[in-house]
Amino acid sequence: MRKKKLIIAIIALAILAPSLWWWNQTRKESIADAINPMYWIRRWRGEDLFDYNKYILYHGNRSLKEVAITIDDGPHVPMEPQLLSIFEKNHIHATFFLVGIKMKKHPNIIRRMVQDGDELANHTMDHYRLSYLSPWDIHNEILNNDINLYRITGLRFHLLRPPGMNYNDKVLKVAKNMGYVTVSWDCAAEDYENKSPDFIYDRIMRRVENGSIILLHDDMENTVIAMPRIISALKEQGYQFVTISQMLEHLPHPVYADRLKSVPLPAYVLNESPTGGSLTNVPSKAIASKTKVTKDQTIRIK
Ligand SMILES: [Zn+2]
Repeated sequence: MRKKKLIIAIIALAILAPSLWWWNQTRKESIADAINPMYWIRRWRGEDLFDYNKYILYHGNRSLKEVAITIDDGPHVPMEPQLLSIFEKNHIHATFFLVGIKMKKHPNIIRRMVQDGDELANHTMDHYRLSYLSPWDIHNEILNNDINLYRITGLRFHLLRPPGMNYNDKVLKVAKNMGYVTVSWDCAAEDYENKSPDFIYDRIMRRVENGSIILLHDDMENTVIAMPRIISALKEQGYQFVTISQMLEHLPHPVYADRLKSVPLPAYVLNESPTGGSLTNVPSKAIASKTKVTKDQTIRIK
């Protein structure tokens, strides 16, 4: 009897284990979402894409064949310019979530992103985990990087990705009050762990779907190697490439990030002249974050 049970258990495991393995390879949701009934209820009600109270984007429109490529943690040299050239060659635009202390070191890469028409987004000044900070420190982590961008390009950020996607309601509230949309992701490849180009390619291509927000990083050579293959495979499957601002505008209930009112910059920044000596080089081609700074901007509080 015991032997029979053991045989049944082994057979069940032999069937279950490969199924679970394949599910993990191809799953479109995080494990936490997949086992959460509330997630499926939200999804059934169409509330899984964007939270209109907290201003956080989880996923693009599922009925549109489009994806957004987002690149975190840059700019890094020499990988970032290589990525920019790949995007330029393929006539697509990505969204870069930039870290302030690194932007300062490579302002010319930032200006090239603007000239290429890529979208620039805030990944905080120092890449701290925001949920552990006070509201004031969160505010400063976001604003200091915004000052950085203004000094380099004369533009403002409207999109935030908290480092490590470490956030709570406190972080979302500060970000929203500063005129930001917080941006999550759903399709990544652990490329920060130096996975092979084949692993990165396979993982992205198995988990991508309509409206996916793809997360990759710019400090790994393997990501640069995998990127052309990923882009051409996505193109072959008929995907369009959009920036996060475009993805927001394509939601069933559109959100226009560049119409959000930013907090005013400190007077000492606005009075600097000329701003980083670079404003004249920035064309109006930048897709989002187009809002030029004016001195009468008001704080939007809801
Ligand atoms: Zn990061």
